Amino acid sequence: MKCIRCNVINADDVLFCRNCGILFHHDTNVECENHSGRDAAGLCVVCGKPVCDDCMRVRESKTYCDDAAHALVPVTHAKLAAAISEFGAELVAKNLVANGIAALIFSQHRYSHLYRFTDDAPASIFVRKEMAEAAHRLVEEMDLTDFLHQNNNTL
Ligand SMILES: [Zn+2]
Ligand SMILES: [Zn+2]
Ligand SMILES: [Zn+2]
Repeated sequence: MKCIRCNVINADDVLFCRNCGILFHHDTNVECENHSGRDAAGLCVVCGKPVCDDCMRVRESKTYCDDAAHALVPVTHAKLAAAISEFGAELVAKNLVANGIAALIFSQHRYSHLYRFTDDAPASIFVRKEMAEAAHRLVEEMDLTDFLHQNNNTL
């Protein structure tokens, strides 16, 4: 299924676009995390939180939750990869930090039922943009790619 907002192709059974976070199916009863009883309109591409129209922030056609810091993550950071597990994300981040590259982890584990286990769940690793190249190189040199999904969408 091609997303009407960002044109990225998604698997047919996903509820939300894995690239921009918009909700595809409006009959799925996913509630806004902040307002029970209100339908979610999208989910945050950083943390995975489902939010309604009122809570949602949109920046450059991507969906973010009500946490203002999340909409700013792509300004300063690049998504290094999605990890295959929270454990994998932490292991990769630890190795990056040990080599002087600060890493942020956002876990979507709580919301993975919404993704239906598409390859963006359950945790994403972000590094500062200027460190992205060094981080990619380090991950390859240290053979950490087994902990990461291969075909990631960048933010
Ligand atoms: Zn999209
Ligand atoms: Zn968020
Ligand atoms: Zn809401």
